[in-house]
Amino acid sequence: MGIYPPPLERLIEQFSRLPGIGQKSATRVSLYILKAQRELAQNLANSLIDVKEKITFCSICFNFTDGDPCRICNDPARSNGIICVVEGPGDQLAIEESGIFKGRYHVLHGALSPLDGIGPEDLKIGALLSRIEKEDIREVILATNPNTEGEATASFLVTLLSDKGLEMTRIALGVPMGGDLKYMDALTLRHAIKSRVTVNREKNI
Ligand SMILES: [Zn+2]
Repeated sequence: MGIYPPPLERLIEQFSRLPGIGQKSATRVSLYILKAQRELAQNLANSLIDVKEKITFCSICFNFTDGDPCRICNDPARSNGIICVVEGPGDQLAIEESGIFKGRYHVLHGALSPLDGIGPEDLKIGALLSRIEKEDIREVILATNPNTEGEATASFLVTLLSDKGLEMTRIALGVPMGGDLKYMDALTLRHAIKSRVTVNREKNI
């Protein structure tokens, strides 16, 4: 038995099931909602239902969208022929927010992880292959995460796509902006040196 009335306990329990929200945060948020105007609770409830009902996956790139195909796949101003492969919709959003990339995306919905039983057939790799055939892709940017699963996924795709006559590039891994070399770990520095780039020309994307 909790110390709060059951409806409040239930709300705290629901919030504490969310990623990154512990019991304390869940209690704080629940008490805030309880004290706030009814309108806040109503808007929150409506938004929760709205995302479940109106957001789907784009049938081309598998990104979140409220219309199919998504805005990016539908945008004639984006350059065709170059596709940036990411693990999740959040990664796609982060690259899009940077404003640097003007090509197309493909969201894999995960990364290879044999220990968790996640193989190629669990990711949107088959769909990527057919897009490469259909859309006349000339460059694939592998923007999976710089961890064991992301690296395994990138090297799997390199092998899989090696006979397609594509240029395959991997996002540079290494020193972050505002970083300080003397505090970098050895693995990051090793990647940074390995992923070094020529500085007298800009990549055209
Ligand atoms: Zn799309």
